[in-house]
Amino acid sequence: MHKPSPYLVAKLRKHEALQKRCGPGTAPYAKALRQLESGGSAAAADDDCRYLVSISYNRGLGNRILAIASAFLYAVLTERALLIEQYHGDVAALFCEPFPETTWLFPDGRRFPLRILRDLDGKSKESLGNLLKNTSSSSSWSDRPPPYVYLNLEGGADFHDKLFYCDEQQRLLRGAPWLLMKTDCYLAPGLFLAPSLQGELHRMFPEKNAVFHHLGRYLFHPANAVWHNITAYHREHLAGAGKLVGIQLRVYRGETAQVSQVVLDQALSCARREKLLPAAGTNTTNATLSLSEQTTVLVTSLNPWYYERIRDELGGGVHQPSQERWQRSEDTAHDMKALSEMYLLSTCDVLLTSGMSTFGYVAQGLAGQAPWLMPRRPPWEAPATEVPDPPCVRAASPEPCFHSPSSYNCAARRNYDDIGKAAPFVRRCEDASWWIKLV
Ligand code: GDP
Repeated sequence: MHKPSPYLVAKLRKHEALQKRCGPGTAPYAKALRQLESGGSAAAADDDCRYLVSISYNRGLGNRILAIASAFLYAVLTERALLIEQYHGDVAALFCEPFPETTWLFPDGRRFPLRILRDLDGKSKESLGNLLKNTSSSSSWSDRPPPYVYLNLEGGADFHDKLFYCDEQQRLLRGAPWLLMKTDCYLAPGLFLAPSLQGELHRMFPEKNAVFHHLGRYLFHPANAVWHNITAYHREHLAGAGKLVGIQLRVYRGETAQVSQVVLDQALSCARREKLLPAAGTNTTNATLSLSEQTTVLVTSLNPWYYERIRDELGGGVHQPSQERWQRSEDTAHDMKALSEMYLLSTCDVLLTSGMSTFGYVAQGLAGQAPWLMPRRPPWEAPATEVPDPPCVRAASPEPCFHSPSSYNCAARRNYDDIGKAAPFVRRCEDASWWIKLV
């Protein structure tokens, strides 16, 4: 059981007040917009509001949740109001408003002076990386900060974009009234490595293995319709089980029957080796076993085949809430099911997840529980034809992995010798050694 530190709680209350004071519909918000429209570049006065807009784009829900959690953490740290640019309007359908008496939804993009929000990418001249490349001396920035800076922190971010994680650039960014952030990653480990942010982060999160857990539990309250699905499904199929085991099997487009078989064998081999499931047939067929002693299995996957095979293997007590078959984008009903399943997984006593999946990261993070992780090859490589040995490893913490860390050690002005040893609270990830996570 992870408890938020009193300091984090106080910080969140303070941030709620800031969101209310600066949010859409307030005089400071109107003023900041006017300044942006006129291309004004005056630094925000101390009492003015500053903003961080999280731009969402075509990625799965797991990636988008990690992106919003990261933007929120950065907004709290830097005392900016967080605004979410909605991807096809589904944030409102998925989540409740987290901040009282205001909205975190970025008002209709068409009214916003930057019609180009969606087109911002690493080539945009307003990106931090390009501003740094094109400005001979950064001191010109401190006098006249740009009205807005685009933070390109996607998987494809380059060296200059990633200078974002350096103290010097953090100081420069303070003066910009608007920051526009695009990422598909969980940035917290990168923020923890910036010395100027570290002190505050340590006070907020004395337990480094529960950063996403606290952010996620605070921020992502499923909207009523989603919450109804979660609680109804839980009541009907999962409540009362002695032990609830969640198995998340991530399927990629074009997965062949042979690959599915390897993935199934990997999951069952992990379950046997780590004694996560009862031996075949000894669970539901044993009449002397009461419900409270039984193991119930929740399978989530796009493919119903796994659920059928696991049910055959165990003889019952296996449930799969949806069988969507294909990943879809711009489909709110599909995303609502995905969110329900991340939450249902987070209620499990034991988790077995697919490596490299942000869907699994969100479930384990909300649960605050380190999963058994099944390593797998990245989707751009040919899939494995044999079950790896070992079939699974226990993750070092419930924290999501950061998929795009900067290898540059700003303080030392050279690359890290081993980024996995950059600080006692970071480690290389179990699913890919070039990623890092908090532990
Ligand atoms: P990642 O691609 O594994 O990192 O996870 P994402 O959540 O970012 O993208 C995968 C998307 O595919 C999800 O958001 C869902 O839309 C869909 N998806 C993948 N696995 C499942 C599943 O087990 N259940 C449901 N309902 N949807 C899934």
